[in-house]
Amino acid sequence: METQFDVIVVGAGPGGSACAALLAKRGLHVLLLDKNPRAGGRMMRMEKDGFQYELFPINGVPARGSHFEAIIGELGLESEVELIRPAPAGVMSFGLPSGEVKRMELPSDLSSGLRLLRFLEIRLSQLPSSLRLMKDMMTMKGKALEELDDVTLEEFLRGYHPSETLYAFLGTLAEGALETPVDLACASEFIRIYQQSALQGSSRYVKGGYGHMFETFAGSVGRNGGEVLMSLPVEKILVEEGRVCGVEAGGRRFYTPIVVSNASIQTTVLNLVGAGHFDKEYLNYVKDLHAGWAYAGYRAILRKPVFQHYTNIYFSHKTVITSEQWAAAQRGQIPEEAYVFAGTNSIYPGMAPPGKQLVYMGMTCPADPDTDIEPYLARVKAIVERVWPDVFPQVESIESFGPGSVPPVGSAQVLPGQGGEIYGLAQIVGQCGRHKPSATAPVRGLYYVGFSTGHGLGTHGAADSAVSVAGLVQRYFQVHRYQWQIEPWPQG
Ligand SMILES: Cc1cc2nc3c(=O)[nH]c(=O)nc-3n(C[C@H](O)[C@H](O)[C@H](O)COP(=O)(O)OP(=O)(O)OC[C@H]3O[C@@H](n4cnc5c(N)ncnc54)[C@H](O)[C@@H]3O)c2cc1C
Repeated sequence: METQFDVIVVGAGPGGSACAALLAKRGLHVLLLDKNPRAGGRMMRMEKDGFQYELFPINGVPARGSHFEAIIGELGLESEVELIRPAPAGVMSFGLPSGEVKRMELPSDLSSGLRLLRFLEIRLSQLPSSLRLMKDMMTMKGKALEELDDVTLEEFLRGYHPSETLYAFLGTLAEGALETPVDLACASEFIRIYQQSALQGSSRYVKGGYGHMFETFAGSVGRNGGEVLMSLPVEKILVEEGRVCGVEAGGRRFYTPIVVSNASIQTTVLNLVGAGHFDKEYLNYVKDLHAGWAYAGYRAILRKPVFQHYTNIYFSHKTVITSEQWAAAQRGQIPEEAYVFAGTNSIYPGMAPPGKQLVYMGMTCPADPDTDIEPYLARVKAIVERVWPDVFPQVESIESFGPGSVPPVGSAQVLPGQGGEIYGLAQIVGQCGRHKPSATAPVRGLYYVGFSTGHGLGTHGAADSAVSVAGLVQRYFQVHRYQWQIEPWPQG
């Protein structure tokens, strides 16, 4: 096998597989490597007992006009990857102070604000400020939105004096979209995602599962002249004289002037490149980057279908959790009420044996892979039994998962308290908008691709990063390729 490439992409997660595929299609000679047997990272496809599923639940936002449409189009994969946009998006269940649980179909876009405000029992006197809040969230752009990079979601929402129920709805939605407490969450990032949900639809899936899409992206690297090596962990990114020159994996060396790392920024800097290649200020910056939160729950096979919709959420007027309450949870005081997401992909053709259903049910928990998830599982079970009482009596088999399940399919844990996060770096004030970590590392030829250097919800953030990093790498390659012919880069 060849050992010299224009670019090496370390990791075939959503960001890495999309970026590698775009670069190969644009004519660069690409090597894509991953430690997992399949592309997809935290969204890798699994198969068991006739079920096809992702390890963790998945709902994509936005439904229409996503980066995935553009990537699939550029790669010419329209006949192989089909995006599905379920409508309605799901069902939301709202716990009232009386204990009663009210339900409403979650519209496939959130633009039907009046229906929502009626569902949330907004009083007439609160209607003008509630409508103003919804309108501002839908229409805010440019400078006004940028100013909210430095404002927490709690500060932003409180400025409108929203009713308790509207605050609960938006605060809980933000927990699902950002996985950070409301008093740290970045208002501008939430509003951008809210606008995408409202205007471009709030539910997207892929025929054959998300993993199928990322496997197809990885496959197209090979079809466009590149190489793909799976089940091969990269042990080292090689750097000489302040610029990358290759990677080491499985005792072999592969050479390149450009490495794109889909491992987390912290894993890339501290593990794969090594602290010695960065100055102290940058190292401190990387160490201080704060990880988002994780999700603990169950994956169960039901004897017969219980959920009619792909997405089912439960929240109440008490489910908006602050950082102080989350800190108490870390000390064992799990909140009485929690936002629970329950989902199934079995309603899509070919994903489950006839008459059965695979469901996920879970809640937010700390990102530390060593977290004791038992108290979180107990809370999830109690809420599911109350809100969806038909689920547990139908359980045929059940597994639990939590932050400890993430590093084996994502990036290695390198700092205390991180590693198990759902999305990546936390979307908190100071790490979002114009404060997002740069995708260009302070080592020449090194780039970071993945959720943490993109904008948007989960996989869409990874796709956003893939598109922009592919552009950065292409330009860097175009500028330097002739220079490298005269003066080859160091060869380790
Ligand atoms: C419980 C849970 C629920 C989620 N729900 C949703 C959802 O509903 N909607 C949504 O959009 N997103 C969801 N996500 C988030 C989504 O999975 C991530 O945001 C997305 O996978 C991030 O993609 P990425 O490209 O940044 O990296 P990752 O998915 O982390 O992929 C990184 C890749 O790099 C590889 N890698 C790392 N180190 C090395 C190495 N040394 N050598 C070789 N390969 C390496 C890994 O094996 C992996 O394949 C969820 C995640 C979890 C855990």
